[in-house]
Amino acid sequence: MPSDTRNNADALVQNGRPPRVDGRHVNMPIELGSTIVFDSMASFESARDARYASGTLYYGRYGNDASFQLEALLANLENARGVTLTSSGVAAISTALMTFVAPGKHLLVADHVYGNTRAFCDGVLSRMGVEIEYYDPMIGTDIYDLIRETTCAIMLEAPGSGTFEIPDIPAIAKAARDASIPSIIDSTWATPLFCKPLDLGCDVVVASCSKYISGHSDCMMGMIASNTMYHDQIRKTVFAIGDKPGSHEVFLALRGLRTLKVRMEYFDKAGREIATWLGQQKQVKTVLHPAFESCPGHDFWKRDFTGAAGLFSVIFHPCSAAQIRDFVDALHHFGIGVSWGGYESLVLPVDPMRSAKAWTETGALVRFNIGLEDTDSLKADLQAALPLLNS
Ligand SMILES: *Cc1c(COP(=O)(O)O)cnc(C)c1O
Repeated sequence: MPSDTRNNADALVQNGRPPRVDGRHVNMPIELGSTIVFDSMASFESARDARYASGTLYYGRYGNDASFQLEALLANLENARGVTLTSSGVAAISTALMTFVAPGKHLLVADHVYGNTRAFCDGVLSRMGVEIEYYDPMIGTDIYDLIRETTCAIMLEAPGSGTFEIPDIPAIAKAARDASIPSIIDSTWATPLFCKPLDLGCDVVVASCSKYISGHSDCMMGMIASNTMYHDQIRKTVFAIGDKPGSHEVFLALRGLRTLKVRMEYFDKAGREIATWLGQQKQVKTVLHPAFESCPGHDFWKRDFTGAAGLFSVIFHPCSAAQIRDFVDALHHFGIGVSWGGYESLVLPVDPMRSAKAWTETGALVRFNIGLEDTDSLKADLQAALPLLNS
């Protein structure tokens, strides 16, 4: 019997597996294929008429048994009506937004969103006549003042990319409900284990499965989880655009999910340990980690999340740009890279883009992804490099 969300560990291990025939493989096989053939016009027509539903085999682009299993597993974790898979997290964001925008419409977007969300809004949607308005992510109930007759959706992210503010998710989601428009939240950081935004009143969850879900930096994929109100609309848009993940990626995401709980519990612990240690170093001015009081929205994190991922930032005391580069270059255990959520530690200087409210911090912002290395090695690595920041 598939498990439900009352016990995530069981669901992660038991769901999304081959049918229980006697003598079977543990895992879903990698299925490659475009064409699916039928023995009669009647069965072809019934597949065609049901092709938007997860579970209907019709043509490779609409999914196969393994991708349907993955969609069901993720939908169960998110408490969603359903999940639609995409070829990347960015594709999940862009197709979810495409579902709701039209020329002359107004879209509210949190000012701390992932860089490519901003690039899609400013570079593509605005060219199509959508008015993009960025709002302060800590706006709370004042979001009501920004909603217009033409507002078509509200985009949130929790926590913010690079800067980690946690918004008041239920307040913003309720404002969207009151205006009969969807709220869409990028919840890549928390994964469904640490936050279930649909339970908090959001309508649509988008996430990159390239990060913690697949978990080994070997897979590009995205997902859109939606409630009953918007599920069919989103699925039709994704299929109309023609986006889908590859079969190898579906296999890797299913494999990654088996260990999601132990990985997230470890990253929570190791991330807090390194962030605490960094906070004690004289070069560090502020730790931007949702589980720390110094992080804007920490109280919302305590209320709405059940754990913290291993990705956070620190603000260093003002120093030169060259010193930051030297510090990053001196780290041996932290690769320099834009991604995160794999097994390896990463570091990245962040330059926050802001439209609604200027970013006024003078010290450099640096993001850390804590991997599965020994935390003592990571601390020793940081300890050796930190003196390069002394002015
Ligand atoms: C990486 C990331 C994405 C994009 O996902 P891809 O799979 O790389 O396309 C979206 N949102 C957040 C918060 C991310 O960190």
